[in-house]
Amino acid sequence: MSTFQAPKGTYDLIPPVSATFLAVREAIAAPLKNSGYGYVETPGFENVELFARGVGESTDIVSKEMYAFETKGGDKLALRPEGTASVLRAALEANLHKAGNLPVKLWYSGSYYRYERPQKGRYRHFSQVGAEAIGVEDPALDAELIILADQAYRSLGLRNFRILLNSLGDKECRPVYREALQGFLRGLDLDEETRRRIEINPLRVLDDKRADVQKQLVGAPMLHDYLCDACKAYHEEVRELLTVQGVAFEDDEKLVRGLDYYTRTTFEFVHDGLGAQSAVGGGGRYDGLSEMLGGPALPSVGWALGVDRTVLALEAEGVELDIPPATSVYAIPLGEEARRKLFGVVTELRAAGVATDFAFGGRGLKGAMKSANRSGARYTLVAGERDLEEGVAQLKDMESGEQTAIALDTLVAEVTRRLG
Ligand code: AMP
Repeated sequence: MSTFQAPKGTYDLIPPVSATFLAVREAIAAPLKNSGYGYVETPGFENVELFARGVGESTDIVSKEMYAFETKGGDKLALRPEGTASVLRAALEANLHKAGNLPVKLWYSGSYYRYERPQKGRYRHFSQVGAEAIGVEDPALDAELIILADQAYRSLGLRNFRILLNSLGDKECRPVYREALQGFLRGLDLDEETRRRIEINPLRVLDDKRADVQKQLVGAPMLHDYLCDACKAYHEEVRELLTVQGVAFEDDEKLVRGLDYYTRTTFEFVHDGLGAQSAVGGGGRYDGLSEMLGGPALPSVGWALGVDRTVLALEAEGVELDIPPATSVYAIPLGEEARRKLFGVVTELRAAGVATDFAFGGRGLKGAMKSANRSGARYTLVAGERDLEEGVAQLKDMESGEQTAIALDTLVAEVTRRLG
């Protein structure tokens, strides 16, 4: 070990586990690519103001967890704590919403940063795959996104997850509810910080995990009693569409989520094998965010799924992804002359699209065979001086153990044929 270690709350992705991460990212992206979502990539940092305005000054994410800093040039930046504000900023900046094709559908994959107290499933650097559908208010779009996330998790073989669903109302009904809730909360026996929260973000108080607080919350006004008719009808339609598609969900009136921009539909995917950090993904509608960022009215909906926690969920369920070995052919030269010649064959095989590795460093046959086994290669290709004089190399099928001498000039064709 060197004197350096990965910073607190972070970890490295190294083989073979890193292959699982890649497979999870791909599995989450696949249904999106299949449904009209285009890939977007934004910088790892943004102007701090984007998150302060977008995510909300009063949220934990912005007030406590953001890596904010000032550059030597005086720019106030922050490492991105989430994806939605950046993606919407990018779409507005590129005028994608004016190209005439609404909704603008985008997906992304990347690193996010939050200064949180690290624990299992909660890190300071983590990875998300997300999707945003910008510019259309249509319950089918909300349903589409929930269905695509559900498909992604199912395609990975996950079963023990649940979908929690709620509506947070809109700019008509939510303020009325907010006031009613504040009235109720102000009458409770709460600590200073929670009392402050009542004034800036009362819905978050409902989310308080402490038992003594939860006890006092019994009888609090509930948002669904305050939803306006338009929000009620919209929510009913989302529920109906999911039900018809056979996607099971649970109504969860307490689901408020930690970001200020949500309106109407909100949802979370929770996994029952993860303990305290059970949310594997979440999202919802954010009809007012574009205007909050100085853009036009663009009702939108999106989600982000956490890759780290999805991998933990796979472990919790004992699901092993079927990841094919990276290497198909492992070439082992015996002797200096063979090394040169076989290295050429390796290059040829690779150019023909065959995943090939080579025994570097001039080790003996025994050590090289060990590496070949570890690589998972279907075939080894061994050649010594005598083979080469005869113009052949020995191709060994690692499954059957059968070994055949193959003429070098037909080798690429033969290997390609065998690998199908
Ligand atoms: P959020 O926007 O906070 O709902 O995050 C969406 C998803 O990202 C969560 O459901 C988690 O899977 C993942 N996530 C958020 N914060 C963290 C973190 N600190 N460490 C690991 N995963 C996280």
